[in-house]
Amino acid sequence: MRILVVEDEKEIRYFLKASLGAELFSVDAVEDGERGLYLASVNDYDVIVLDNILPKKSGLEICSELRKKGKNTPIIIVSVKTDTTTKIELLNAGADDYLIKPFSFEELMARIRALIRRPQQVKGEVLTSNDLILETKKHTVKRGKKEIHLTRKEFMLLEYLLSNKGSVLSRGMILEHVWDMDTDPFSNTIETHILSLRRKIDTPHSKKLISTVSGCGYKIAD
Ligand code: CA
Repeated sequence: MRILVVEDEKEIRYFLKASLGAELFSVDAVEDGERGLYLASVNDYDVIVLDNILPKKSGLEICSELRKKGKNTPIIIVSVKTDTTTKIELLNAGADDYLIKPFSFEELMARIRALIRRPQQVKGEVLTSNDLILETKKHTVKRGKKEIHLTRKEFMLLEYLLSNKGSVLSRGMILEHVWDMDTDPFSNTIETHILSLRRKIDTPHSKKLISTVSGCGYKIAD
């Protein structure tokens, strides 16, 4: 899951990048509206957390420009403004949710989870493939009864594979959803992580769950 944070207050931006990172999201965090709009237009984020009062372009402008371009990424606006007109304007411009500053991180997380929840995740956010079980909230992975310890990136990669189980995911799709913009797209980081993930979840078992689809990408068994 990849999130874009557009926030000009340095402390809040750093806090959100670190806290969302700790919740196993990959996070791009930028400080001005133009850069935010650019990134939101060229990347396929799972959620955008958008401050309303920003240098160069407001949250309201970013929202309506993205929707005009046909981008329907879920957007949560965070703003100090509390008057009803602003709120209605923002929702009309295509924002999905609105949070008033100061907000608690728990509330932001609850709203993010509500927006990205896919149909198969509705019940308790448990993702499975055969005897493999991943619980998104607890950050745990088990195969059969055995608990498997994954690194942050391995967990994120597995979560992405399981959210799209049965479908082939290309390197580009994985890079876009699991890594942030600081990753060198030509490095072999995806292959390395797939390899270590396979070692942990597949090697001891006769039934292999992760497969390579030659020339296309990777998939996890349905
Ligand atoms: Ca601001």
